[in-house]
Amino acid sequence: MPATMNKQQLLNQTLTLLKKKFPAPPEPDKRPVLEEVVYAICREGVPSAKADAAYARMRSEFFDWNEVRVSTIQEVANVFEGLPDAGDRAKRVVEFLQEHFERTYSFELDDLEKKGLKQAAKQLARYKDKGVSDFVVAWVTQRSLGGHAVPLDEPTLRVLRRLNVIEEGEIDDLEAVRGSIEHFIPKAKGFEFTEEMIQLADAVCVADTPHCPHCPLKADCPTGIENLSKPKAAADKPKPKSR
Ligand code: SF4
Repeated sequence: MPATMNKQQLLNQTLTLLKKKFPAPPEPDKRPVLEEVVYAICREGVPSAKADAAYARMRSEFFDWNEVRVSTIQEVANVFEGLPDAGDRAKRVVEFLQEHFERTYSFELDDLEKKGLKQAAKQLARYKDKGVSDFVVAWVTQRSLGGHAVPLDEPTLRVLRRLNVIEEGEIDDLEAVRGSIEHFIPKAKGFEFTEEMIQLADAVCVADTPHCPHCPLKADCPTGIENLSKPKAAADKPKPKSR
């Protein structure tokens, strides 16, 4: 990043630029908490249009949550076709529903809304080995519980690494990374940030070879500046720095 630009300024600038090229979709209607957990599993690392389609297929092809719970992983994975790691996602959904059903004999989780935010996040985190990741906890906190949380999935972390907002070694402590991003991104911008970053990561700042020449952040992103400073022949071969 330019020497005079600190992380706060860079993230402010990122939000301003992304808003023009990848505006966030309108905020959707609030879902019941359990449904938001399942949606977040569909949504992790996936832009809204693709996740919405997969989630809608699941809702139309299964009679209710109990039918999803007792289905095979393959049957659930079939409706996630086209999403990355469809089988793993299906496993997470089934394991979460199974665990929740065994604990409560229900498919309700709305009592979380009556708990304090910390207590609610702690309760959700108990499903950590049953499909609920840090991303899912933060997502539900942001979308259902009215708290300030910024869900970070792998594509968003990739962009933040390339922007040098987070360092390679920091990634091991995801909660700490999230805490620092939540410090920079105010609650009112949390939804917008989440939606815009995933669109950028999906369309431009892709995993293997980022399309820096077409990126709205290219003037401020250290990785983009480095990639674009290479002579054309050298930039084409070998591949630009991907990180
Ligand atoms: S300039 Fe390149 S590396 Fe930086 S965010 Fe844009 S696409 Fe990613």
